[in-house]
Amino acid sequence: ITQPYDPNNIFARILRGEIPARRVWEDDHAVAFEDIAPQAPTHVLVIPRGAYVSWDDFSDRASDKEIAGFVRAVGTVARMLGLDANGYRLLANIGSHGGQEVPHLHVHLFGGRPLGTMLA
Ligand code: 5GP
Repeated sequence: ITQPYDPNNIFARILRGEIPARRVWEDDHAVAFEDIAPQAPTHVLVIPRGAYVSWDDFSDRASDKEIAGFVRAVGTVARMLGLDANGYRLLANIGSHGGQEVPHLHVHLFGGRPLGTMLA
């Protein structure tokens, strides 16, 4: 699914602070912010600071340090939000068939209620 990274995608602009987002956590590797159209009581997006289109692109090109930092960030955000107590769901949409709308890697973090089976 190699497509060039678009530096003007909406999450790149959020990273640069050009458009507002409700940030809930950040470190050197990652930023977490509330989804603008939440699908659960807690719906947060976690994104790497690096310019990666998708999970596919990230797992191919990112350094081990970036990958470790991002994976750890997702867990840290979930615990910081208290979701580890009752559990939660992670989701990454990849490319066209995956339904990915924003071409900067993001992991959805859903929680705060029983989530049932797969999301549509
Ligand atoms: P995707 O389908 O690409 O996995 O999900 C993109 C997500 O980004 C959607 O859940 C959508 O609500 C969210 N989103 C799109 N534009 C914005 C925005 O400008 N700000 C925030 N906070 N979330 C957005």
